[in-house]
Amino acid sequence: MERGRSYIVVGAGALGSAAAYWLTRSGATDVLVLEQYGLGHGLGASEDHSRIIRHAYHSSVYTALTQAAYDAWAEIEGETGLQLVIKTGGLDLAVAGTPGEADLGNYRGSLAPFGIPSEDLDAAEIRRRWPAWRIGDDVVGLYQQDGGILDIRRANAAQIALARRGGAEFRPHTTVRGSRRARTASPSPPTTARSTPTMSSCAWPPGCRPCSATWASTGG
Ligand SMILES: Cc1cc2nc3c(=O)[nH]c(=O)nc-3n(C[C@H](O)[C@H](O)[C@H](O)COP(=O)(O)OP(=O)(O)OC[C@H]3O[C@@H](n4cnc5c(N)ncnc54)[C@H](O)[C@@H]3O)c2cc1C
Repeated sequence: MERGRSYIVVGAGALGSAAAYWLTRSGATDVLVLEQYGLGHGLGASEDHSRIIRHAYHSSVYTALTQAAYDAWAEIEGETGLQLVIKTGGLDLAVAGTPGEADLGNYRGSLAPFGIPSEDLDAAEIRRRWPAWRIGDDVVGLYQQDGGILDIRRANAAQIALARRGGAEFRPHTTVRGSRRARTASPSPPTTARSTPTMSSCAWPPGCRPCSATWASTGG
């Protein structure tokens, strides 16, 4: 019989490892993360070298969340001494009079409620700042200075390391097959465990069905 867990996280991608880390930061001491492959495997969405990080989105609903993302990565950079976010500035381009220009308007509109600065640029100014661009005179741009890239693979590894330091247990090569309200976890050979709330960061249905309160797994 395996001891019960207060928190079980399904998947050790960026979201799962973040959940584990922030749970330990909030004082949780019995966090278990189940990952079907090895940690840092190359098959997930979080295992590439870069992901865009930005404030400019099609909707302010998204932009309402972005400062928290920057702040969270800054905290992890502070904890580890690693640089994870590289601010390059973000430039979105569109041809005037097309739906793309309307998209730029949405991006601009998403920033305004939060007082996040942006610049409207015409083609001449875009060419002046970034001479590599070969664009027509009908191109317009929206520049936002905080846009950049996140080194997602390094960031995920950092979160895993910090979560482990905080006491989280990562169990790679353990596939969650489903969940049941009242019981069992079964690495191979089957054993059982009781657990209560479960967090799922799984974006891989149908193999992973929604986890509500407990879990069942078999060794991957
Ligand atoms: C090509 C690409 C480009 C992208 N570009 C950007 C970008 O520029 N900016 C941006 O913000 N976002 C971008 N995204 C989205 C972003 O990368 C994802 O939203 C994020 O990485 C998702 O993290 P995750 O932890 O939910 O998923 P994943 O990283 O896929 O992690 C899920 C984990 O769960 C594990 N798992 C699944 N099922 C089970 C199971 N049954 N049992 C145990 N473990 C299981 C998987 O093995 C995996 O490790 C991009 C995504 C892709 C694919």
